[in-house]
Amino acid sequence: MTLTIPDAPIKKQPFSCGEVALVGAGPGDPELLTLQAFRFIKQAEVVIYDRLVSAEILALLPENCERIYVGKKQAEHRVPQDDINQLLVDHAKQNKKVLRLKGGDPFVFGRGGEEAQFALKHDIACHIVPGMTAASACTSYVGIPLTHRQVAQSCTFITGNVQNNGELSLPWHTLTDNKQTVVFYMGIKSLPIISEQLIKAGRIASTPAALIYKGTNPEQHVYRGTLAGLNHLVELHNIKPPTLVIIGDVVNTFDEKHLINLGYLSPK
Ligand code: SAH
Repeated sequence: MTLTIPDAPIKKQPFSCGEVALVGAGPGDPELLTLQAFRFIKQAEVVIYDRLVSAEILALLPENCERIYVGKKQAEHRVPQDDINQLLVDHAKQNKKVLRLKGGDPFVFGRGGEEAQFALKHDIACHIVPGMTAASACTSYVGIPLTHRQVAQSCTFITGNVQNNGELSLPWHTLTDNKQTVVFYMGIKSLPIISEQLIKAGRIASTPAALIYKGTNPEQHVYRGTLAGLNHLVELHNIKPPTLVIIGDVVNTFDEKHLINLGYLSPK
């Protein structure tokens, strides 16, 4: 693939040796990569990447770029965050251009803030390159507007990741407004708790809800139902991560028959 990047309208910092770039790769479709992300990817000497970065995007890396995978392999644990932080610093200290390539946006549930803090603490400069976050791209690709006049006036992104003690302690009462879209990242495993707690706090059980598996990727699949019926959908279809959970009336904005594929809305 060749891509000519137009002259940047504002002066950008060059990617220098001995620096780290935290780059958001978006949710999978390489067309959702920003030109800025592309510029950094093309210069990388070492890449440290995780599970959510798609193969098509990895294919854009320079051939001689060293690749270090830090995601979770099946049944194994992911590389601990402290080790990832250290890898970034160690490679930068070897005077390399270190690309930390992350799914979506590095600052949205991506621990990018922690990695940047660690690099700075070790006197290493850090570039932050935003990416398209899953909530935005995956919903567009299945025809769900996150906000819609009269239907949803606010939208909350929230994590469904349980804490170390196995609990999911969230401000449930702030997620019950009918005109609020709620998007759970990492919510698939804790879905039974999520739907139970939301309904208990007052969200209507028949609120439309959707699960988007591997949004924007070739394997993308959307499952639609209601808040009360989400668990059944997961069991029925054996839905695994990465899946985004969308709760709110916006889910039914467009009829499924209009959605041909990947954001293409057909009038028929
Ligand atoms: N930094 C990322 C989020 C990382 S947390 C971002 O900004 O998008 C990981 C969670 O994000 C997954 O468990 C899933 O809930 C969601 N996610 C990321 N990519 C996704 C995709 N392509 N399709 C569906 N969900 C996705």
